[in-house]
Amino acid sequence: MESGRVSKSWLLVPFLALIAGVLSALLLRDMLLATAPIAGPTTTPSVAPSEPVGKFTPIYTPTATASSTPTPLPPTATPVPPTPTSTPTFSPTATSTPLPMPTAPVDGAPTRPPIIAREEWGSMVITEGYEAHTLDRITLHHDGSEFYGGAPARLRGLQSWSRRARGWVDIPYHYLIDLDGNIYEARPLEFVGDTATEYDPTGHALITVMGNYNVQEINEAQLGAIVDLASWLCYEYSLDPQSIRGHRDYAATSCPGANLYQYLVNGYIVSAVERRLQFENP
Ligand SMILES: [Zn+2]
Repeated sequence: MESGRVSKSWLLVPFLALIAGVLSALLLRDMLLATAPIAGPTTTPSVAPSEPVGKFTPIYTPTATASSTPTPLPPTATPVPPTPTSTPTFSPTATSTPLPMPTAPVDGAPTRPPIIAREEWGSMVITEGYEAHTLDRITLHHDGSEFYGGAPARLRGLQSWSRRARGWVDIPYHYLIDLDGNIYEARPLEFVGDTATEYDPTGHALITVMGNYNVQEINEAQLGAIVDLASWLCYEYSLDPQSIRGHRDYAATSCPGANLYQYLVNGYIVSAVERRLQFENP
């Protein structure tokens, strides 16, 4: 039965091969399962987000400390909360670089600067409806509409609009300044101005720059006209230069515009007027 034995043992070969196959398959499965947790973390998101953060942080951190205006936001019509107290709040929205302080020597008392009279720009003749007041301060405005020239026509338009649409007796302001620094007489100074906002302009000398100084930039001629006019008003009417403020210091408005208001915030206008008042008496 040699052949029978041999054939019996040959039958074991496929059986053993099957066992080996099953065992190696199981072993391979265990190996795969064992390595799976190691390969797994690549899909875990916990590490990934820290990289972009780490990369972006250095970009904005240094500029944030160097300047509070990362991108010069266009000054918007967002009303600034009223600050009726004596400390005006700084608005970082000015887009223009402030002009340097004047350093020229001052001689003599401030004189009345050239002022274009009402009849010269074609004002209506208005004789009644005004209310008298005593001046105690100066307030700066802009008229709020962009302006690129043609002051007399604009003044006439403002006057008729004030009377027709607002029911005011006259232009609400006492003086207006054009792009070249020319000063125009509007409502007579001895009468109270008007406002569409919630402050009482009694006692205020109202100086207005034509244009929108949230958008336009104030120039040296205009700034010079403000200082000339304010210096003369302070001298003539015994006003304190520290009383020079912006409309937004009294009411919820962006007036006189960030690009003009910055010259109140940085002290340019007040200190220039104070210098003019410290003249040597001859
Ligand atoms: Zn105003």
